[in-house]
Amino acid sequence: MNFDVILVRYGELTTKGKNRSDFIRILIDNIKNKLKEYETQYKLKKEFDRLFIELLDPTVSEVIINIVKNIFGSSSLSLAKRVECDLTAIGDCMIALVQHYQPDTFKLEVRRSDKTFPLTSTEIKQQLAPKILKQTNVKVDVRHPTLQIDVEIRRGFTYVFINKIKTIGGLPVGISGRGLVMLSGGIDSPVAAFLMMKRGMSVEYLHFATPPYTTNDALKKVQTLVQKLDCYTDQTQQRLHVIDFVMLQHELMHIPDPTYRITIMRRMFYRIANLLAIKLNCQAIITGESLGQVASQTIESINVINNVSTLPVLRPVLCFDKNDIIDIAIKIDTYQTSILPFEDCCNLFVPKNPVTKPRLKQAEFQEQNLMWQEIIDIIIKKNIKTYLIGRDDVYEES
Ligand code: ATP
Ligand code: MG
Repeated sequence: MNFDVILVRYGELTTKGKNRSDFIRILIDNIKNKLKEYETQYKLKKEFDRLFIELLDPTVSEVIINIVKNIFGSSSLSLAKRVECDLTAIGDCMIALVQHYQPDTFKLEVRRSDKTFPLTSTEIKQQLAPKILKQTNVKVDVRHPTLQIDVEIRRGFTYVFINKIKTIGGLPVGISGRGLVMLSGGIDSPVAAFLMMKRGMSVEYLHFATPPYTTNDALKKVQTLVQKLDCYTDQTQQRLHVIDFVMLQHELMHIPDPTYRITIMRRMFYRIANLLAIKLNCQAIITGESLGQVASQTIESINVINNVSTLPVLRPVLCFDKNDIIDIAIKIDTYQTSILPFEDCCNLFVPKNPVTKPRLKQAEFQEQNLMWQEIIDIIIKKNIKTYLIGRDDVYEES
């Protein structure tokens, strides 16, 4: 059966006025971006409370639904038939649906958003249901119908549909500013990126590599993770900034107390992330830290590390159990990539007993004789490679 239109319901639209129009505008931009390769096969029409994707080519309905389902900012969608606001036309359309799907029982729901339509929802139901019963073999079952038919009468047209597909929800990416995600290649940080995008934040990625200790395969793994997150973004290409951290890593070997090595390394990560984020016009740094998960993620540790950051550090998985993070990672299909066994630079330089309750004064003392400022200066100027990552390709930005 061919349908004419995909009816999209806006998500968390609790705001009004300018915010509302921004929400809809950004959602539309994001949908257009993601449907670029189908741009001749559909037309978008926006209304106050709905977005309509008119299908010029009905064969693409399924692909389009699968893409739009993952774009943050809508709550559900329905594949619908569009007919005139006229009871005969609506009745004929319903009968065609029943004849096509051959259900044993059905239920009819009517919503009249055009209040100028001369009949109430109940009156419409009372007129339409007998028509269907008379012309087909189907019976009514309001509790457990095999088929539910929804009729939405709007100014201009009426939409008849049989299913409501739940979409991913969230806010349209771009409405909540920009953040820089510290992406390690582990399980947590891709999930953190996903959750921030879900709240409408547009993201870029930062990865610290320590070649030759970390391999090209480890870099490819991180690039694949960025690709897996592509379907949720507002861009056609995502940006991954890879920092060669090895010079600083060697410098960190001179820390007098090796148990502080990870703490200091993470302070360096945050310092570099701050500098890069400001350069990229990002307003926040995002990490996959989860309270208590490892030594560097105790509250004492987070405090000492956080101390070097001027930008807010957002930690969307802070309160999640590992299993809950894994569940999301599986759902967004990053899990299998995240568990590939390539070394992260963190793992390689971990001391035997990293301090779990570091003290700020002690951390400052440990790093005071390092040449970290000079090295960070060089790193920011020379040791960054940026990759532009599309769904199927990766380019190094020149
Ligand atoms: P993940 O599963 O995301 O690797 P994790 O549990 O392994 O997290 P850590 O290695 O302590 O935790 O890292 C905590 C956070 O620090 C990561 O979630 C990530 O945001 C950031 N991070 C760690 N290593 C790197 C790296 N090499 N490059 C960029 N960010 C990193
Ligand atoms: Mg990690």
